[in-house]
Amino acid sequence: MAALYGTYKLMNSRTYQVFGTLIARVDTDEKLIALTFDDAPTVYTDEVLDVLKQRQIPATFYVIGQQIEKYPDTAKRIITNGNEIGNHSYSHQRMIFKSQSFIDTEIQKTNDLIREAGYEGDITFRPPNCKKLFGLPWYLSKHNIKTITVDVEPDTYGASADFFVDNTIKYTKPGSIILLHPFCETCGEQRKALPLIIDALKQKGYTFVTVSELLQKGGVQ
Ligand SMILES: [Zn+2]
Repeated sequence: MAALYGTYKLMNSRTYQVFGTLIARVDTDEKLIALTFDDAPTVYTDEVLDVLKQRQIPATFYVIGQQIEKYPDTAKRIITNGNEIGNHSYSHQRMIFKSQSFIDTEIQKTNDLIREAGYEGDITFRPPNCKKLFGLPWYLSKHNIKTITVDVEPDTYGASADFFVDNTIKYTKPGSIILLHPFCETCGEQRKALPLIIDALKQKGYTFVTVSELLQKGGVQ
């Protein structure tokens, strides 16, 4: 029973994995934060890109390979607007109890699609549903790919825009990695919350940077 519970905790932990580098936030006294979005691109991504552009801030988009194939122009727009791209697997399956060849295909195919879209920066990885045990961390550490999870995640099903705004502001601190899910059909409240969150955090003196910039500031090589 204890072993089973331990495995469950390990699989879901945002701050620990057995191999390699896993980052949920960085230590810095500067008021720097990284805004991240999962499951891009979709038909709702342009709306989010407009909000970022109006406010002149970058974000980091964790993309699904299959979705790049469906929305290649949107993927390109994410990049040309100056945002960072991260890998969120090819088909968004839970990457536990999977073979190394499955993991390899999911990650490499998506990296190839990201490069084809024109992205030249470092590519970090965020596991679908943040789930990982041994096989995935082993693969990522062998290939020197950093795993990025999350520090602030106000994601409660059916919550209002106000809830997302209040909870994001409440838990954000210098070095935080914030996760929002604004790209699904039923995620309208998160889309509504996004400009309010950005404006409120700017007012508190925070500067938005990409995940890679935040890692550099926090001394993560
Ligand atoms: Zn996801």
